[in-house]
Amino acid sequence: MTSPYDRLLAAGPTRVVSHEALAADATVVGLLRDGAEAPAAAAGEQVEVVLDTTPFYAESGGQEADAGRIVGAGLDLEVLDVQRPAKGLVVHTVRVVAGELSAGLAVRAEVDQEWRLGACQAHSATHILHAALRQVLGPTALQAGSYNKPGYLRLDFAWPEQLSPETRSEVEEVANLAVRADLPVRAFLTTLPEARELGALALFDETYDEQVRVVEIGGEWSRELCGGTHVAHSAQVGPLALTAEASVKAGQRRVEALVGRDYLTFVRRQRAVVDALTAQLRVPADEVPDRVLALADRLRSAEKELDRLRAEAVLAGAATLARGAADVGGVAVVAAEVPGVGGGDLRTLALDVRDRLGADRAGVVALIAVAEDKVSYVVTTTEQARRRGVSAGAVVRAMAGPVGGRGGGRDDMAQGGGTEPAGTAESLRLAERLIGEQVGA
Ligand SMILES: [Zn+2]
Repeated sequence: MTSPYDRLLAAGPTRVVSHEALAADATVVGLLRDGAEAPAAAAGEQVEVVLDTTPFYAESGGQEADAGRIVGAGLDLEVLDVQRPAKGLVVHTVRVVAGELSAGLAVRAEVDQEWRLGACQAHSATHILHAALRQVLGPTALQAGSYNKPGYLRLDFAWPEQLSPETRSEVEEVANLAVRADLPVRAFLTTLPEARELGALALFDETYDEQVRVVEIGGEWSRELCGGTHVAHSAQVGPLALTAEASVKAGQRRVEALVGRDYLTFVRRQRAVVDALTAQLRVPADEVPDRVLALADRLRSAEKELDRLRAEAVLAGAATLARGAADVGGVAVVAAEVPGVGGGDLRTLALDVRDRLGADRAGVVALIAVAEDKVSYVVTTTEQARRRGVSAGAVVRAMAGPVGGRGGGRDDMAQGGGTEPAGTAESLRLAERLIGEQVGA
């Protein structure tokens, strides 16, 4: 069964003039709606269009497809994507902005010049970055894949380890030197054996035609087999910023870079960050890193000091609580709310209060606290209190209701947590009542 693409291709391959022209007169060969041939398309529809001639570059070799318009008498199409689904066939995905599109129409295909300039900058920058990587790291740093669109490029290459900040800077510097040197860019067709003889790098597991296209920048400095669009001189790329380097998989790294307008946006953002920091810290830009380190140091010591003071405060609270113990039928009972103490600190505090009551005395400590809207409660008993029948676990279970809590534990130590801070007073009252019942007071 022949696909709609094959039938469109039967009219002959698309004449591609993307390397010579940014605009071309053309005839609509046919169109597809949802993958099926259609006679016409109206405003608002998104369809695929095949022209007999196109200046549009179809996405390939890592380069994003061109953007632009296709216009005719009353017709305006916005080109959203350009692909080559079959050898020799270029298909434009378009949105019909105005007019009616049908086969046989005479149109003019116009690539967005700004877009194409950006695409050429980014693609040439990819070749420059590749050459810079190989110059700095050596010939084994071979490209394994790439992607570029106006303003942005990324390049995957064979390399076993992370690049150091110094190596990254060096690669960026070599690339920018090549840009400043304004090296000539030349593209020519030749045979594959001849291209090999010239040392041109063939990058993908592609099957090449008999005729191959070689793109060189500064002669042998960068020589690759490539079908993409390029600037005429390296200076047209403009400054390049290497923005990221990361692992793709074992033995492969990825670098990302910005050029053109995106480079400027990147630099402007970085500058805004530095400006904000210098204003906030009141130091010149080159003193910002030291100042931040010093601040982080001070913060760490302040946190340590705060921890120490907090522990001290908790211990000081323990003495006060122990002194305030009530006598319930001969058992010393501390039942109190201690605001702002977290669960772990509350347990430490309860044990400390119990110790202060004295191991040879019948004592019970029931503490409840609210910290960050969470209720924690802890009950602990001395051995003498347990002999009198007090169970920490039972007391904790009794405390749960008013604070919407749950919890439990052993006779000597139990704890729980709840979600209703309003119930803490009632919770303590229930604890005191149960302790009274347990000791028979
Ligand atoms: Zn290329």
